[in-house]
Amino acid sequence: MRPDPTHPDTLLARAQGAHDPATHGVVPAVHPATTFLRAGDLSYPGGHSYARPFNPTFDGAETLLATLEGAAQALLFSSGMSAATAVFQALEPGDHVIAPQVMYWGLRNWLKGFAAQWGLGLDLVDMRDPAAVAAAVRPGRTRLIWAETPANPTWEVTDLAACAEIAHRAGARLAVDNTVPTPLLTRPVEHGADIVMHSATKYLNGHSDVLGGALATARADGFWERIAAIRANQGAIPGPFEAWLLLRGMRTLGLRVERACATAQRLAEHFAGHPKLEAVLYPGLPTHPGHAVAARQMRGGFGGMLSVRVKGGAAGAVAASAALRIWTRATSLGGVESLVEHRGSIEGPDSPCPQDLLRLSCGIEHADDLIADLEQALEHVPA
Ligand SMILES: *Cc1c(COP(=O)(O)O)cnc(C)c1O
Repeated sequence: MRPDPTHPDTLLARAQGAHDPATHGVVPAVHPATTFLRAGDLSYPGGHSYARPFNPTFDGAETLLATLEGAAQALLFSSGMSAATAVFQALEPGDHVIAPQVMYWGLRNWLKGFAAQWGLGLDLVDMRDPAAVAAAVRPGRTRLIWAETPANPTWEVTDLAACAEIAHRAGARLAVDNTVPTPLLTRPVEHGADIVMHSATKYLNGHSDVLGGALATARADGFWERIAAIRANQGAIPGPFEAWLLLRGMRTLGLRVERACATAQRLAEHFAGHPKLEAVLYPGLPTHPGHAVAARQMRGGFGGMLSVRVKGGAAGAVAASAALRIWTRATSLGGVESLVEHRGSIEGPDSPCPQDLLRLSCGIEHADDLIADLEQALEHVPA
């Protein structure tokens, strides 16, 4: 008997055995069709009718992601934002939502406007502290707790099991933005989460050439059906070529995440206490306030993302970023190339992001080169 390939790296590399059954090609086919043949009795012998609700090219990535997350089902979306917004749009006006103060800024900004427009109650709380989350619950009204851990761009850590318990006691759901850890480091469903969200644009695809998103669910229940209907009705789906590229990118996720984690840990340890830095923010450092929770809830590493706070405020941070030669100055994260970004100039004045912060996304280059580049750049920071 052959062993079942249950290790995530094996599932990923083999894309669960995805291939083209028509030609026996070892990679799956792209299905560009927007419409599908009906039989004489008007049934759909291929199981597909039209491309807005489903595209057969999605199947491989959706099944693989659901398996990795330990989820019942997964759905691809056209972007991380379209995946996340579908969850909030599935709520009823009058429902109450708890979300983090520190989270992906684009979603926080959208959520503030949407909550006002849709009549959702919204509390943005310090999600490092489960007591603050519990205190924000409005009995009978709270329907969703949204979490992100480690959270952009300061990498605060949230205890998912504690939040799941608070949510479920209140009759609410816990949804988790799992973009940064990926299912290789954190599987939120194991900690009690009901919904998992990804910007597939980041690590899952990993090559900065596909915009995509995904949701996975612990249970295919009525709430999940509403989400699926929102995707179908809005056509919030990636194109078939993007879905195909996504599965292709996912096959190397194991190697990329392993390298990014090792590099981030090395950078954090190397630059901690550096004379040109105020702080290194990385949950893999034992001095990080969320380290103990992260060590319990993450497996195999603390992620490929870290931030540094540069001495001399925004001017110091911008001077360092301007002098970098190998790190690419660009937004986004999770690609094979290392990226650096001054988040303060993106997030605006009402963001909790400090102005002296540079966010670093470790790619798969050699860590020695990345360290040397950052060292020389910090020499350009005025003493
Ligand atoms: C990029 C990102 C998003 C938004 O995803 P898009 O694919 O850009 O729409 C959401 N959450 C996190 C943590 C992200 O990094």
